[in-house]
This record gives sequence, C-alpha cells and structure tokens, in this order.
Amino acid sequence: MSINLLELADRLRTEADAYEYLEELRWAGQPFCPHCGSVREHYFLKPANGSSRKTTRGSSSERRVWKCAECRKQFTVLTGTIFHGTKIPVRKWLLVIFDMASCKNGMSAREIERKYDLATKTAWFMAHRIREAMKREPIAGLLTGRVVADETWYGGKPSNRHKSARKPRKQGHTDKTPIVSLISRETGEVRSEILGRTTATPVINGDNLREVLIKHVDPAETHLHTDAGMHYRKVASMFAAHTAVDHVIGEYVSGDVSTNQAENYFSQLKRSLDGTHHHVSVEHLPRYLAEFDFRRTTCKDTDGERMNRIISRTGSRRLTYREPTRG
Ligand SMILES: [Zn+2]
Repeated sequence: MSINLLELADRLRTEADAYEYLEELRWAGQPFCPHCGSVREHYFLKPANGSSRKTTRGSSSERRVWKCAECRKQFTVLTGTIFHGTKIPVRKWLLVIFDMASCKNGMSAREIERKYDLATKTAWFMAHRIREAMKREPIAGLLTGRVVADETWYGGKPSNRHKSARKPRKQGHTDKTPIVSLISRETGEVRSEILGRTTATPVINGDNLREVLIKHVDPAETHLHTDAGMHYRKVASMFAAHTAVDHVIGEYVSGDVSTNQAENYFSQLKRSLDGTHHHVSVEHLPRYLAEFDFRRTTCKDTDGERMNRIISRTGSRRLTYREPTRG
C-alpha cells in the first residue's frame, strides 16, 4: 500500500472519516472492547442525525462510539491509546503521524505547529507522543547474525560541537554524551542507546558496552563487527565471532565487515538533531534516538506502512500531559 499525504488528506475529510480510518487500521474489521477485551459483535451507536452527536456540553461531535456486547461499556477506537482524551482532531493526529513517519530528517515541533496551525504546547506534545509510539516494542527479540556495533559522542557546548573529534580529547572531562548503535546486517534493524547513563561522567568502556550488548544481542548467535577500539576487545570473547576493522591503519572494509553503516547513521542523526531540532538535551535524547532507530529500521517500508506501524503501537501506552518538559 502506498499513499501520499495528499491522498491521505483526501480520505480524511471529516472527523468521522478519521475515526473510521483508524478503526480500519487498529481493528481490521473487528471492534475490540478496551475495557474487557471482548471482540464479540459490538453495537455501533448511530448518531441521531446520521453523522454527528450532541455532547454533554451541547456541541456536536463526530466521534464514532461503540457499546460493548459483553460489559455494556461504551468505547471508541481512541480509548486506551495515546490519542485518548485528546482535544486535537483525530484528522490532525493522523496527518502529523504520516508526516513525521515519512520525513527523512524528522520534523520539529515548530514545523508541526506552523503546518497544522496548532498551539506551541500542543504541537510539542503531539511530537513527543508520536515518538513514544515509535519506540521498540518491549518484547522485541535479541539481534542475531551479523551485527555492527559502533559508538559516537553527541552534543556538548556549541563550541565543542561539529568538530570531527570522535572522542573528546580528555576522557572524563566532557559535556558530550556517548551513544552506541547496534545495526543488524541481516534485517537492517537499528537499536541505539546512551552509554553509562548511571555514571556521573560519561565514558565508553567494556563494562557499559557489555551491558547494552547483552540487552540487545544474543552473543552465541552473533558475529560482531566493530572498529578496533580497545573496549570491544574486552567484550569480544562473549561472541560467536568478532571482526574488527582498524581505522587507524586506514582499513575501512575487511571482507564484508565494515562499520560504514553505523558511521552514515551517526552523521545523519547528528545533522538532523542539530539541523531540524536545533540541538537536543540529554534528557530528551532517548526519544529522538527511538525515532531515528524506527525510521532507519523501517527505511524499506512505504510511508503508509510506516504510519500503520506507528498506529499499531499507539495502544495501551499512556503519557501524561505533564511528563515531558521543554528542552
Ligand atoms: Zn467490554
């Protein structure tokens, strides 16, 4: 299925259209009661005048409301999702999700605010909720096969940024944040994490690398590809195989082993964090990493498929209005 923003906007002329579209994507023809989990034949509550109903406040609403055949409670396709309780039209949600899913460098809250005529706070909150839905599923399995591991430093004072230095001159005296990315050469899946979040001074070492690797990779089934960094030698023995390319001696590819994919990923990530988002604080970095990992992992999907993936992850994950702070 391939759809572009214009076609989507065309399909979503009214709020009722948007509800129906979301029902199709989330329920695939079988309405699901979020209160009791029942998928029996639920009742669609037909609005009195055909398309809209009166709310308790007297305004009209185009929400599509269902009544559970089992527990008799009412629900809509938004109940229990990140859209629940939102005052933002579902139409706008879907269009913004599509836009964020298809935009290669990401979209800043500022752009969303302008393009969709939303309040600053609203646009910012939507962007964060959508990023939240882009996060890996918690039960995602371990990576196996050929896995590239590489690390980079991000951020710091403007005067320290953009310098080609991969590592700060003096470890232990840096305002940069170390990030490690794992890329499956088999599936293209990318998983990034901030290293050593628990330590006061950011550092890349064998211990915090091992922690991240064990969380995401099955060592017995994995051939690890890295550069020749010392810290990888410390963790190499856990893996079925380990091949390192030595950048110092000018080696960038050894057989089919290379860390180029990771380096390309990092350069795009940094361009976008600084260009589109005008720098991101450490506090918010995990969400942006999730967004980038998602987009890279699904880079072979069409924009429509990517939107559907996000929507399939909007259920049962709540983020309150207060949780994110500006940064
Ligand atoms: Zn029910």
